[in-house]
Amino acid sequence: MRLVIFGPPGSGKGTYSTRIAPVLKIARIATGDMFREEVKNNTQLGKLAAMYMNKGEFVPDDVTMKMFKERLKKPDTKNGFILDGFPRTIFQAKELDKITKIEVIINLIVPDEILIEKMSARRMCKNCGDIYNIADIKKNIDGVEYLLPPMLPKKKNVCDKCGGPLYQRDDDKPEVIKERLEVYKNQAAPVIEHYTGKIPFLDIHVTRGPEIMVGKILDEIKKFNLK
Ligand code: AMP
Repeated sequence: MRLVIFGPPGSGKGTYSTRIAPVLKIARIATGDMFREEVKNNTQLGKLAAMYMNKGEFVPDDVTMKMFKERLKKPDTKNGFILDGFPRTIFQAKELDKITKIEVIINLIVPDEILIEKMSARRMCKNCGDIYNIADIKKNIDGVEYLLPPMLPKKKNVCDKCGGPLYQRDDDKPEVIKERLEVYKNQAAPVIEHYTGKIPFLDIHVTRGPEIMVGKILDEIKKFNLK
């Protein structure tokens, strides 16, 4: 099974792909998490990536591609994968086409207003990257009801999974969020266009929390009868 999850920053790509991958027994490949790991370990690649990430810009394609190809060689990808945060550019999409054929694109749709509120409230574990959210969103936008409950850790600022400290990513701060949404809109449009008509899109309007949405996404994926 070879899936991609698309969606603006803050739409829940990380949360959904993390929950879906083990159910489908596929690997989750998240280039953003991989870069953050490099930054944490203060590697050469990490130092380079941080210069772009802190400004909300993309890491250069050649660097990203090299890291991605290495990751794809790992044995956990033998049953397939879900890609989160990749491909982000036409160059990456074309390179990916040369390596493999994506079967379904899960396309998360969330209004900007909700994204900004959600991202400002996101907290991540410094150790394992687990994601939490302190926002409790109840909003009606254009007649659609959004009920997005917080995802709180059991103990304040402490990761449930590994006990690590929670923090706010530098690029989840308001001045960078707006830049990231702009970058996403400009860069995602051509990538979405690249796949339109070639690969089926599964459009998912994220109107509820993960407990409900994960089940919905899995039900929809089943309909494609993928191996
Ligand atoms: P994410 O966690 O997916 O929002 O990614 C965080 C940051 O990592 C992005 O804002 C980029 O700076 C960088 N990044 C992640 N994936 C890619 C990619 N496929 N191409 C270029 N930069 C990326």
